[in-house]
Parts: sequence; structure tokens; C-alpha cells
Amino acid sequence: MSSLVCHQFPYGSDNYGVLVHDADSGQTACIDAGDAKATLAALNDKGWQLSHLLITHHHSDHTAGLMDIKQATGCAVIGPVQRSSAIKGIDQHVDDNHTFEFAGRQVKAIHTPGHTTDMINFYFSDDKLVFTGDTLFSMGCGRLFEGDAAMMLASVAKLNALPGDTLVYCAHEYTATNAKFATAVDPDNKVLAQRATEVGKLREQGEPTVPSLLSLEQQTNPFLRTRDAGILKALGMEGADEVAVFAELRERRNGY
Ligand SMILES: [Zn+2]
Repeated sequence: MSSLVCHQFPYGSDNYGVLVHDADSGQTACIDAGDAKATLAALNDKGWQLSHLLITHHHSDHTAGLMDIKQATGCAVIGPVQRSSAIKGIDQHVDDNHTFEFAGRQVKAIHTPGHTTDMINFYFSDDKLVFTGDTLFSMGCGRLFEGDAAMMLASVAKLNALPGDTLVYCAHEYTATNAKFATAVDPDNKVLAQRATEVGKLREQGEPTVPSLLSLEQQTNPFLRTRDAGILKALGMEGADEVAVFAELRERRNGY
């Protein structure tokens, strides 16, 4: 089995799409479909044929180009079972722990509600890749539009349980602001300070900060560190319930 090749491309103001290609089978998957033109241009650049389109959630910056991409490529569309707004054009609906085949390997759907109730993340265990949509960001997490803090905490805990050497692809370039916020609530974290500096340099050069290793998220992402003594102290919440800490972090990040 050859390893998958990922090609990340920007669209909209701060979205990322990703093409995932297997040279042996020639199959290519795309994660999300916010902008058909950008997806088709990326496929054209690489000379790859789209076989699968994987949809994380119903928000239009992840779905607006779905029908055009499907029509142009004839790809199979895999996406979440309906829990909130319907997504038109899905061929195969997946729920938590469902698996499907892509390029000779099993891909697992992980249901991670919180940002939306329908959110599905895609885990390629053989290749140590996870596509986290708007659930887990680099040094952050998604806003709670349809779920609550307890729901989102349980969702990020599912991702936190994956192997540390899993590469995390999230759907937005929010890392610079996330790094500033993380530093404010985790001021004595040396790994975080170093990462924040690196992120600043990358963004100055117009470079992406996504993807990142899960092990680095575990050391620097406050939403995965809701039991960290330094963060609890900075929040003035020593001894507080983990859900309350998560809710406080999310609330503070909303106003940041
Ligand atoms: Zn969203």
C-alpha cells in the first residue's frame, strides 16, 4: 500500500480544502466542497480525477459547491446523516464509527457534534490522517452554534484519543488568533510560546499553519488541556468541573 498524498488548497477568506490522492489506485478524495471552482482548479493542477467527496457538515462554506463538483466529476459523495439542515447530493450517509472504503483502506467516520450537530470527521487510520472540519482547529476549536460545551468537550475527547502522530487537517486558517488566545490562557507554556512564534513567522510569509500533529495540539491547544493546572490557575478555576472550564475557554475565545 503506497502512502496517500495530500494537497491542501485555500478558498474563501480562510477556508482550506484538501485533496487526498492514492497513486496505486488513482483514487482521489476531496474534503468539503465550499467552492467548486477552487476544487476543480486544484484537481486540474495535480492532474487527479475525483472519486470521492467527503462532507464534514452542512455549513455553506463546506457544501456550496457540492452539486457542481459532483456533476463535473461524477464522484461519490459521503457525508453526515441529517441531524440539522439537510445537505443535498449525498450518496452515502455516515454516522459515528461507520467505515467506508477509499483506495483499498478503511476510513472511519467520527461524529463530533458541538459546532453543528451533524459534524463528521474523517479518520484514515492506516495513513494517520484526520480531517476535523470545524471541530478541532490548530490551537482552537469551533464555535458552538448547535451544541453546547459538554457536547464539544466529548467530541474533542474522541479526537484527543487518536494516536499522537496523527496529522490533523482542520478547515480554517485561524491559527494566529488562536495562538494569541492560547498564550493568554496558558502563559507559562514554553512549547506554546515557541509554536506561537513559529506560527507568526509562517503567517508573515503567507504560509499555511495547517496541518499539525495531534501530539503538538495536545501540548498547545487549550481546548485539549482543560485539566492543565496552569490553565486552571490562569482562569481562576482551580478545582472546577472540566465542562465548566471548557465553556469558560470557549466563551472567552468568542470575545477575543
Ligand atoms: Zn462550520
